[in-house]
Amino acid sequence: MHAAIIAVGSELLTHTRLDTNSLYLTEKLNDMGVEVVQKLIVGDHRGGLEKAVRYALESAQLLILTGGLGPTEDDLTREAVAAATDRAIHFDPEVCAWLEARFQSFGRTMSEINKRQAYVLEGAEVLPNGRGTAPGQWLSLPHNQIVVLLPGPPGEMKPMAGQEFFPRLQKILPPLALATATFRVSGIGESDLDALIAPIYKPYERPVTTILAKAGDITVHLRTQATTQTEADALTSELAAKIEAALGNKIYSHDGSPLEAAVLRLLEAKGQTVAVAESLTGGMLGSRLSGIAGASKVFVGGFISYNNGQKQSLLGVDPWAIAEHTEVSEEVALQMAVGAQERANAHWALSLTGYAGPDGGTAENPVGTVFCGIAGPGGFRKAHRFRYPTGDRDRIRQFAVQSALNLLRLTLI
Ligand code: AMP
Ligand code: MG
Repeated sequence: MHAAIIAVGSELLTHTRLDTNSLYLTEKLNDMGVEVVQKLIVGDHRGGLEKAVRYALESAQLLILTGGLGPTEDDLTREAVAAATDRAIHFDPEVCAWLEARFQSFGRTMSEINKRQAYVLEGAEVLPNGRGTAPGQWLSLPHNQIVVLLPGPPGEMKPMAGQEFFPRLQKILPPLALATATFRVSGIGESDLDALIAPIYKPYERPVTTILAKAGDITVHLRTQATTQTEADALTSELAAKIEAALGNKIYSHDGSPLEAAVLRLLEAKGQTVAVAESLTGGMLGSRLSGIAGASKVFVGGFISYNNGQKQSLLGVDPWAIAEHTEVSEEVALQMAVGAQERANAHWALSLTGYAGPDGGTAENPVGTVFCGIAGPGGFRKAHRFRYPTGDRDRIRQFAVQSALNLLRLTLI
């Protein structure tokens, strides 16, 4: 089935408000085997909205509108859909009584304008709203088309979709099996990854493969729809096995969990702990590690040694090492890691020092250069130099965190 979504609201056409409803709906619809072929964002203008509804119904069997179901003059979705589908809307006393009862339940009397919300499209089913006053509507049209009206506020739209809309939709969809596989990958750039796996996945029409890249972090997603679960599973695991073989230990997660979770799992299995010493990332690495539930078993804490004085006093970095090699150097990264390991009494320590820009850097180590140090049990010492594209300070810092976590992961395995 092909669907279209219209997000209604003039505020969604400004830079202050993002249409998130359609993202939520699209994810759920895709899971049900419904493909979204069109999304529109339309301001609160009746004529424009009516046109948009007619246009969307030219290509979609299912049309979902969110927003514009409020009680005020600029809430025009009901009227626009009525006009576009050539049907009347009528006042529904039952809906009105429900609205009045809802207002009474929080000790208020309903004002006259709320009666607008009791208007129902001819032939539509009313979808009750457990979180607000705007009821939704489900309208079946000739030629098996369906128009669904949902409220705009995500806190009302999601529960209504979950309780009223998706179950109704499920009933009219053909049975469908879905299988997915997710690989999260680190330590390889997006274009290198695609060069590596495109020849593997391109010949497959199913699964559908998508690649999503962030700084130092790539997610490869396979998704197969089929008429039976056996078929969906078989198609997915065939391609998944090939991709897995090609990527090897670059894959850090099969369940969508982030890199820091993989690192914590590895350490927990060994009964070991980790500390961090951060310069350019100012706590981002520690924040990532502490963001995982149960991290306290493994992550002991860390040091934000941003300037050189703190590198010396917090971590015992030798001032001569800084003078000789600068603070962005293999030597200082190593000393930071060793200092953190000793002072936090941890099995492992990770350090980060580098130039995030826009200013700074040297001829030898320009902006974008990052050193990561690792200190580990039995005198284990390692430092690694990374070079990232310049221009985006925050991206360099995210890259650095990702690289440090991945370096420790690879060291542990
Ligand atoms: P409405 O139902 O049009 O009165 O919308 C009420 C509020 O819901 C708006 O002010 C927005 O804050 C929010 N909202 C409406 N549509 C969306 C959307 N597509 N995505 C996210 N929030 C929305
Ligand atoms: Mg609105």
